[in-house]
Amino acid sequence: MDLPITKYHPDPMATGSVEANPDQPCLCCNRIRGYVYTGPAYSEKFHYLSGCLCPWCVADGSAAKTFGAEFTDTGTLDDVPKAVLDELAKRTPGFIAWQQERWLCCCDDAAAYLGRAGFAELTGEFALARPAVERWLREEYGLAGAEVGRTIADMGKDREPTTYVFRCLHCETYLAYSDEA
Ligand SMILES: [Zn+2]
Ligand SMILES: [Zn+2]
Repeated sequence: MDLPITKYHPDPMATGSVEANPDQPCLCCNRIRGYVYTGPAYSEKFHYLSGCLCPWCVADGSAAKTFGAEFTDTGTLDDVPKAVLDELAKRTPGFIAWQQERWLCCCDDAAAYLGRAGFAELTGEFALARPAVERWLREEYGLAGAEVGRTIADMGKDREPTTYVFRCLHCETYLAYSDEA
């Protein structure tokens, strides 16, 4: 069974926002699909959605419609069209960060979220994102010189500080930011 395609979050199994689960029925379609969405779900009325929805009901918008849910807070994004915000909030799996997550944008569009990274990932599969992290640490944290490298060396995929890696769907530039608890 192929998971649904979501262009702004192309591999939610790899990022941990979708997990295999043979027992959990989806609260939206009432079926046991074998996979559950484990990222954030924001809804005024329903506070128990995370871990209880299948990725298909997230991707086709039915969970957003049924529960008034959004999976990403797009309130801070203002340089992208409303249709993109809608797709991101209502039809794209979100991701969990230490702080309120933020989706990065490039070329007037939301970028694709690729996953969490620590030092190992930033010297491995996400090495191309390292310049973006360095820029973030200089600009947002005011770090300079060797402090930048030391901070990256302390980063962990599952322990703070953590970097979140994105790639532009148009110019293919890697984008990144980091946060800590
Ligand atoms: Zn479902
Ligand atoms: Zn771009």
